[in-house]
Amino acid sequence: MSDQAFYSSLQQKLATLKDEGLFKPERVLASRQGAEVVAQDGRTLINMCANNYLGLSGDVETQKAAAAALEKYGYGLSSVRFICGTQTVHKELESALSNFLGTEDTILYAAAFDANGGVFEPLFDENDAIISDALNHASIIDGVRLCKAARYRYANNDMADLEKQLIAATEAGKRHKIIVTDGVFSMDGTIAQLDMIVELAEKYGALTMIDESHASGFMGATGRGTHEHCGVIGKIDIITGTLGKALGGAMGGFTSGKKEVIETLRQKSRPYLFSNTLAPMIAGASLAVLERISKSTELRDRLHENTAYFRKEIERIGFTIKPGTHPVVPVMLFEAPVAQKFAARMFDLGVLLSGFFYPVVPMGQARVRVQLSAAHTRQQLDTVLKAFEQAGKELGIIKN
Ligand SMILES: *Cc1c(COP(=O)(O)O)cnc(C)c1O
Repeated sequence: MSDQAFYSSLQQKLATLKDEGLFKPERVLASRQGAEVVAQDGRTLINMCANNYLGLSGDVETQKAAAAALEKYGYGLSSVRFICGTQTVHKELESALSNFLGTEDTILYAAAFDANGGVFEPLFDENDAIISDALNHASIIDGVRLCKAARYRYANNDMADLEKQLIAATEAGKRHKIIVTDGVFSMDGTIAQLDMIVELAEKYGALTMIDESHASGFMGATGRGTHEHCGVIGKIDIITGTLGKALGGAMGGFTSGKKEVIETLRQKSRPYLFSNTLAPMIAGASLAVLERISKSTELRDRLHENTAYFRKEIERIGFTIKPGTHPVVPVMLFEAPVAQKFAARMFDLGVLLSGFFYPVVPMGQARVRVQLSAAHTRQQLDTVLKAFEQAGKELGIIKN
């Protein structure tokens, strides 16, 4: 406590963040997560910014499955997996995830952040090359940093640039090459072109890895993910993802792929070896979620209906969106102050949204990001669209 300068410098940096409008305050909810949430002041808001794609976060069936696992397996394990932290429910979930994703084996982590943080270093070294999309998630970037492999970056979703990087890595004589991409990019709702990526991987003898955090459970005809959407099930070497978004919403992550990859991770992956087992109630609830969405595509279908409806109506009102089909819908407002004012006005009108501006998105690309959920009713979406129309007119974004 003797280095006062340290604390003053932190205070200064925090003040700068606030001055630059980059400070992130936390919204406090007084209710469970859902299509509607209650704010701390007691106001009910329609929630358009959760990753609650299938509406399972506050769902009673999910909660009951968690409660049943809690009852049977207890609260926690006080152990890592390889000492005494593996229960039948963890093995069942790993096997169910492998079935669902179309892979051989799966390893659980406390978060997708850990899955990505612990996947590269055990598998690749300085003789290898990691070829990574420029907009990949922070956890992939950190995972790559922890590994000695050479790094190659290609422009977001740019297949010509990817090929250039594959050629560069080949010419550098790299032993193994792995192409790494988010299945879906969460800022734009862009879907990676996995069919072309797989083709390029075959051409240059590269491996492929996708992070399915914004896809598992609802992309593709039966919700298996981007690899299903793009017709390349069985052709992706490594799949990482989260249990904290569509697949229940609590927390937890996974890495899935060939047996020898997963076995190597169990032996060597540091966030797995040196961090506690996923709580059994989360494993049990995730298992129930997988069973439920494997039996019926009802939730997935409702999500896509809601998405199509919202995308069509918001454009009809006169807003500009990034085209696409994903439930992430970026409503473009372009200028940062407009996005900020717009999100604030929508909050007054009872709609919870998040605004994004530089440096999170490129300069001049400020937006509010809408995320649809299977839990939204048509009536709630109509209320949100009315609020968009009103705020849009008030701020002169759309014409009367
Ligand atoms: C949310 C997200 C993660 C992190 O997931 P957690 O399980 O919350 O750690 C990783 N990758 C991508 C692409 C994500 O969107």
